[in-house]
Amino acid sequence: MMKAVLLVDDDRAFRALVAQSLTAGGWQVLEADDGEVGLKLALLHRPAAILCDLLMPRSNGFQLCRAVRSHQDRLGRPRIIVTTGSGYAADRKSAMEAGADDYLVKPVSTQRLLELLKTALGSPDAPGPPAGGPDPATVPRPARVKFWGVRGSIATPGPTTVRYGGNTACIEVRSNGELIVLDAGTGLRPLGLALMEEFKDQPIHLTLLISHTHWDHIQGFPFFIPGYDPKNKIRILGYEGARRGLEITLAAQMESPYFPISLRQMPGHIAVEELRDLEFSVGQVPVRAAFLNHPGICTGYRLFTSGGSISYLPDVEPHHRFNARQGSPADDTAMLEFARSQDQKLVEFVRGSELLIVDCQYDAREYEQHVGWGHSSVDDSVALALEAGVKRLFTFHHDPGHDDDKILAMQEEARALVARHGGHLRVDAAQEGLEVILEPARHASAQPA
Ligand SMILES: [Zn+2]
Ligand SMILES: [Zn+2]
Repeated sequence: MMKAVLLVDDDRAFRALVAQSLTAGGWQVLEADDGEVGLKLALLHRPAAILCDLLMPRSNGFQLCRAVRSHQDRLGRPRIIVTTGSGYAADRKSAMEAGADDYLVKPVSTQRLLELLKTALGSPDAPGPPAGGPDPATVPRPARVKFWGVRGSIATPGPTTVRYGGNTACIEVRSNGELIVLDAGTGLRPLGLALMEEFKDQPIHLTLLISHTHWDHIQGFPFFIPGYDPKNKIRILGYEGARRGLEITLAAQMESPYFPISLRQMPGHIAVEELRDLEFSVGQVPVRAAFLNHPGICTGYRLFTSGGSISYLPDVEPHHRFNARQGSPADDTAMLEFARSQDQKLVEFVRGSELLIVDCQYDAREYEQHVGWGHSSVDDSVALALEAGVKRLFTFHHDPGHDDDKILAMQEEARALVARHGGHLRVDAAQEGLEVILEPARHASAQPA
């Protein structure tokens, strides 16, 4: 049977040109002049490839890519080739994230298109991909991390925090078609607005991993606009707190004295699931969790993405620092030994991570005044990253009392510490709006060992 290629483009002349050469090359051709008809034809005929333009009426190319990928059960995984009239790098990245396999800037050479189809899908009448060719479904894509809130404790807007940002903990991770959000601090509000803009009328499916329910990690949720649209699905995962369950605590901050709409009244599909195991997965992304030394129950997560693993330890205090102050001098040794063994577990948890995002609330001197508050100093966090052989460190959970200059100074301090140890660790202060792309080629394996 001949394989079909679906052309979705409102430019009739372009369609005619491409259709002619594809037919001559032995392909069956289907045509649609907008995204909506394109999706209908795709579901009806299950084409081997879809060539679609980015700018089209009724569902643009990004939306069509996402819609096709969300119907994987019915469509399998057709090759999606996006065409565009302009070569913006940001559009290319968005198209690939939406599920495109190729991105061609017009004018498109029909010869090149035929070669691309043949390489990816074999000849029009051969079954399946060519022998030895990569299966497009298994080619790993880069993962993406974006910081939406990097502040600890309480949001700190104002002229002295514009560079690093004043919103509290929220990080967006995209990998293997999953949209994962780490914590729901006030940074969740701008993330919600950006998602609405990106997905337009397409449904948003995301998983929110909560480290713990201190205010700075949940306060953005009532202001998360996608939660108010019934077509969106939001899964909230986390562990039961020290005193109450996760759902009760999340709902409590929205009770009537504090907020006009209750968690249950939010129209989006919001499911709160309490985690029991320390290993689970979000779609194709394996996740490990570890309990952290912080008042109450607080969890760190390690996500094994297509671009290597990301370890997130937002609020943590080293055991050896804290415990050493608690005991009498007589039992100091045993206590310190125990504390160090606990800290070693954390080193193993993050070992070899591509990215470590970790609590660096204080500098060494400030920490002396805050022992037992549940947070780390920059030198302890650098030591953890160095010992664990992490590739890149982001200092995170910036103290609300620290202005941009102080955070920059702490970043330089961290870099000096790394240089003193002769390490190759790269250190940056986490910054609101900063995006990191993790290429699959840079690491050997994203699977948990
Ligand atoms: Zn916190
Ligand atoms: Zn906390």
